[in-house]
Amino acid sequence: MNFFETSISKKAISNAVKALKSGWISAGKCAEEFESRLERDLGLINPVTLNSGTSSLHLGLVVCGVGPGDEVIIPAQTFVATGLVVLMQGAKPVFADIDPRTGNISPRSIEKKITKNSKAIIPVHWGGYPCDMDDIGAIAKRHNLAVIEDAAQAVGASFKKKAIGALSRFTAFSFQAVKQLTSGDGGALCCLYKRDAVLAKKLRWFGIDRVKAKPSLLGERLYDISKTGYKYHLNDLQAAVGLGNLAGLRARLERRRRVAMRYRNAFKRISGIKPLDYKKDRESSYFLFTVLVEKRKDFICSLLRRNIPASVVHLRIDRNSVFGGVKPDLVGQEKFDCMQVSLPIHEKLSDNDVSRVIKAVKSGW
Ligand SMILES: *Cc1c(COP(=O)(O)O)cnc(C)c1O
Repeated sequence: MNFFETSISKKAISNAVKALKSGWISAGKCAEEFESRLERDLGLINPVTLNSGTSSLHLGLVVCGVGPGDEVIIPAQTFVATGLVVLMQGAKPVFADIDPRTGNISPRSIEKKITKNSKAIIPVHWGGYPCDMDDIGAIAKRHNLAVIEDAAQAVGASFKKKAIGALSRFTAFSFQAVKQLTSGDGGALCCLYKRDAVLAKKLRWFGIDRVKAKPSLLGERLYDISKTGYKYHLNDLQAAVGLGNLAGLRARLERRRRVAMRYRNAFKRISGIKPLDYKKDRESSYFLFTVLVEKRKDFICSLLRRNIPASVVHLRIDRNSVFGGVKPDLVGQEKFDCMQVSLPIHEKLSDNDVSRVIKAVKSGW
């Protein structure tokens, strides 16, 4: 049993072969089709496909104009990419606390961290479970801050029946190898406003408008770069893989949800272990199934002895020296950080695998 799996469908493989044989593997029709399918199948708003989740987060900051001197409020409970993109813009990550019952950023803590330099908030949907987006949206509106959701773990999740990717000015997704939907590597930046999507599409390819700047008689496109662009586009080979994998996504998420349900039911009456909270107004896409446990090292060792992998996946990122060795006082974070651990949850787990995990937990640690 693996902790993570990479889901590559037969269709993804045949699509990749087709793309390779076509001789066109740069950004093109497949990437465009992937965008319209993400929009149609998942309800994402103006998805702009990019080459990673990290570049999606970064481009969101670029498009909303975050720069030197600005502050961006983020949780420490995330992958380090969430903080690095802020540094890439010469801005300062300000770490807010989380709710230890969910691992998600606490709206109350966000409010406490706001200063006159605050420019944006990056809420992270830990394990695919959506943050309190009503509260976060209201705070952002009140203080005129941009919201860039880090939905790298949350493709297919929803909040009050609305897709994650249709709520905030920006939402960044990742299609990295072990995420629920993979294109090998890749990502998408969803933009509530069309003009943001237009700018993101220009900046993902050096700042050149690929549609307007047609190749001239001279053999080169005619363009004038007015703003620093990037090489951030998703290519057609990646898009072909993403398209192939998108087809079965709903079924795969359904499987993850069923596994989660079994874990929840089974752990109800076991002391020393508590699954994260789950509210009925939102739906997780279960990138992770995180529990809070007492005596975590013993718990992990006991599972490992039975060949069951468990992982904390990410520890708080704020202690990294790149962030200046800040030591913010984050009470919820501290509690979560010493108790959190995740159990395997993916579509390749058989019913029997799930039973084995449950049995191992039940036997104690
Ligand atoms: C995976 C992940 C990222 C980075 O995505 P890449 O596609 O690997 O660049 C960022 N944030 C979180 C929370 C992630 O899980």
